[in-house]
Parts: sequence; structure tokens; C-alpha cells
Amino acid sequence: MSDLLLEIDDISVKYGRIEALHGVTITVGRGEIVALIGANGAGKSTTMRAISGLRPLATGAIRFDGTDISRMPAHKRVGLGLCQAPEGRGVFPGMTVMENLDMGAYGRRDRAGIREDLDRVFGLFPRLAQRKGQLGGTMSGGEQQMLTIGRALMARPQLLLLDEPSMGLAPMLIKQIFTIIKEINAQGTTVLVVEQNAQQALALADRAYVLETGRIVGTGPGAELLHDPAVREAYLGAV
Ligand code: ATP
Repeated sequence: MSDLLLEIDDISVKYGRIEALHGVTITVGRGEIVALIGANGAGKSTTMRAISGLRPLATGAIRFDGTDISRMPAHKRVGLGLCQAPEGRGVFPGMTVMENLDMGAYGRRDRAGIREDLDRVFGLFPRLAQRKGQLGGTMSGGEQQMLTIGRALMARPQLLLLDEPSMGLAPMLIKQIFTIIKEINAQGTTVLVVEQNAQQALALADRAYVLETGRIVGTGPGAELLHDPAVREAYLGAV
């Protein structure tokens, strides 16, 4: 068993003739929180789509838990334990909170395990426990973000991919979401998080990568990048 859970090896991704990623290499070790930061249009979401199988690779390879998944369909990747909480409000609006969470456990047969994970999700997000019967679409933005993460956890992922978990949230709630991500990780889930909110993401992450126009231009421990003058100037609004 390798210590690397995810290996993104020199991948390029195209939209038609336009190449959005040019030879991106990222590794995520078992148990780590890794952040990918970058400005608008840098290619963060494209990287996530490539990992979850929603966008084909033009070149390069992706290995998950030692298996080459470069050409594996998205649903099979979920089956391996690779699960993405989509950007923004990716809840099923016409379904209740409980039904949304049930959807996350789709395909699982281990009733006891599902029950355990539901308790875990309600422990992390007490608000969801209070609102089991409310329609997803009527939850507030922050609550929908929690529901999206909770639903992804119901698949009991080995690797949780989070796309901009802080998007559109008030500062108090952003802090709370990042604390919960830390807690999820402490409970044994490896996390790869994509964020425009570089300050919070770098403070959270064991290691981070900086993406600029489709290329990795920096990498290191989160705390180190947080104090890197070039990173501070470009992403933290400091000089
Ligand atoms: P943001 O933070 O603004 O969401 P991002 O870092 O996630 O940005 P991507 O959405 O991955 O960036 O976009 C990377 C590049 O690929 C951009 O130049 C974008 O215009 C282009 N792109 C993304 N999706 C498509 C698409 N479906 N068709 C054509 N080009 C696309």
C-alpha cells in the first residue's frame, strides 16, 4: 500500500482546441489535507473535473490508491472511494434533507455503516439533523453547502474532493466550514480542497499547490505558502 492516495501525473485537459491545463502534477498522501489555490480561470474546477472523471485527459495519467483511473467512468471512481462535493449549491432542490443524504449513500448495502455515517454527518452538521424534512432547495446558502458536503460523506469516501466550499458564505460560516473540514479529516478522510479563499485554505492545508493559467507555479506546506511574499502579493492581497 503506497502512502500516495492520489497521483495526478502531468495531465493536460482541453476544451475543444483550447488547452486549460498544461502538464499539471499533484499528489495527495493518505490522511492529508491538500489545497489547490488560484485565481479565476486558473483551471481549479477543470482539475477537479479531471479527477472525478467529468472531463477526459488529453495527456497524462491519474492514479487512485495505486489504480490507473485515467479512463475510468465517473461513477466507477465514486465506487472506489473518490467523491466530489460540487461547487456551490449542488443539492437536489425538490428532495428533503434526508432524501438528499440517502442519495449520497446510493449503491451502498451496509445498513449499519450507513446509519453510522448518518450519525456522523448529523454530528458534524446539527442543523441538518434539525431540518431532515425540509426541501433542499429551501435551505439557506450555507445550509445547502453543508448538505452538499454531508451528502458526499454518505458515500464514505477515502478521498473527499471539495470545490470552493466557502463560496458565497459569510465570514463566520466560512470559519465554521473550514473547522468542519479539519474535523472530517481528523476522522480519517483524506481531503483535496479547491479554493479561491487562499488565506483559509492555506491555513487549513498540510500542503498546497498554486495554479496559474493551467500550470502549477508553486507548492509547499500550507503554512509556508501563507508566508511566501509572492503568494501573499498575488493571492492574499498583501504586499
Ligand atoms: P473559477 O475560480 O473562476 O471557477 P477555475 O480556476 O475553476 O476558475 P476553470 O473553470 O477550471 O477555472 O477554467 C479554466 C479555463 O478553462 C478558463 O480559461 C475557462 O474559460 C476554460 N473553460 C472552463 N470550462 C470550459 C468549457 N466548458 N468550455 C470552454 N472553456 C472552458
